[in-house]
Amino acid sequence: MSNHEIPLSSPDVGELEEELVLGVLRSGRLSLGPMQEEFEHLVARRAGCSHAVAVSSGTSGLHAVLAALGIGPGDEVITTPFSFIASANVILMVGATPVFVDICPTSLNMDPSRIEAAITPRTRAILGVEAFGNCAHMGEYARIAARHEIPLIEDCCEALGCHSGGRRAGSFGRAGVFGFYPNKQITTGEGGMIVTDDPSLADVCRSLRNQGRAVAGASIRTRDPSPMNTGSWLAHDRLGFNYRMSEVSAAIGVAQMRRFDEIVARRQKVASLYMDRLLGVHDLVLPTVEPGDETSWFVYVVRLAAGYGSEERDRIIRGLRNHDVGCADYFPCIHLQPFYREMFGHGPGAYPVAESVSQRTIALPFHARLGEREVDLVAQTLELMLRRESLSRP
Ligand SMILES: *Cc1c(COP(=O)(O)O)cnc(C)c1O
Repeated sequence: MSNHEIPLSSPDVGELEEELVLGVLRSGRLSLGPMQEEFEHLVARRAGCSHAVAVSSGTSGLHAVLAALGIGPGDEVITTPFSFIASANVILMVGATPVFVDICPTSLNMDPSRIEAAITPRTRAILGVEAFGNCAHMGEYARIAARHEIPLIEDCCEALGCHSGGRRAGSFGRAGVFGFYPNKQITTGEGGMIVTDDPSLADVCRSLRNQGRAVAGASIRTRDPSPMNTGSWLAHDRLGFNYRMSEVSAAIGVAQMRRFDEIVARRQKVASLYMDRLLGVHDLVLPTVEPGDETSWFVYVVRLAAGYGSEERDRIIRGLRNHDVGCADYFPCIHLQPFYREMFGHGPGAYPVAESVSQRTIALPFHARLGEREVDLVAQTLELMLRRESLSRP
């Protein structure tokens, strides 16, 4: 890494974040306070859902939702092999089995026409992922889930602020989960948020994030009015986790949400700079957004043309990095990760569309503060690497 490196991602935090964090530090209230409540409210509104539960990460949020829905050993959950590994790991974390369904080559999300063939009597949920913030097919997943009377869980960790067909990411399933790691649209350092319209599911998730404690107010809905069930600090209703978010993190989140429109507008501007600059570059497939849909742009991932393979792609990535251009191979297929292979015996060829796509993707530097000059530098370097590859091809 040199000083001139254009990083793959960079959080957009500034004075408002500093001010609200300092306020929390001075308040002496560092957990379960007003910042968490405000952050939950702001994200719920943005996702078009009535309840939000702040948690310590996107992964812990997904784990809590699966646990809250009672999914466990012997159950199967349908999901995509083309995602960040956490979206399948959470299924393993509750002891259930991920059943992968190959993806659609344009949206890069699970192909809805292949889902029903994968449903068995043990299928307990569909866990749909909005790859790179693309909401395509979410409505279809919801319809298939409803037909089979199972819940759709939306892993919208990459999709805050995205929408499709008038519906917002987070609002398609029984529950949605956002992630706030520093490379996402907004960050809290580490953090996540569960959103849902189901008040009892929200209560169970609130309890699960806080060691299984009864939720104050929720006890009205339970049959047992004993003191152990009125939300006292050492009354535990169920096996829970510590998935709480600190007030410091929530304060960063509140600042980010107050600036959300500005952050998304900048990301959309950078995406359009890339689009204009890279349009027409030979052997390159650019990301597309369906008419009527909108993305808040998690990453900017280009794809090499069909004739290329992982060797050429990896050489291009090394070349870009040698020229101080941050980039990554988002995403290697989950079913081909060493411990998945060992557990399930999947080999290459099991999910050919996902495998073919994942060998040819390159995530380019993408964050809100990239300017025209940097985008041009990235594009020039990429063109140079593509020229080298095409010259060396037979
Ligand atoms: C980031 C991400 C997660 C996990 O979020 P963390 O906050 O890092 O735990 C889960 N699923 C997808 C698709 C993601 O991109």
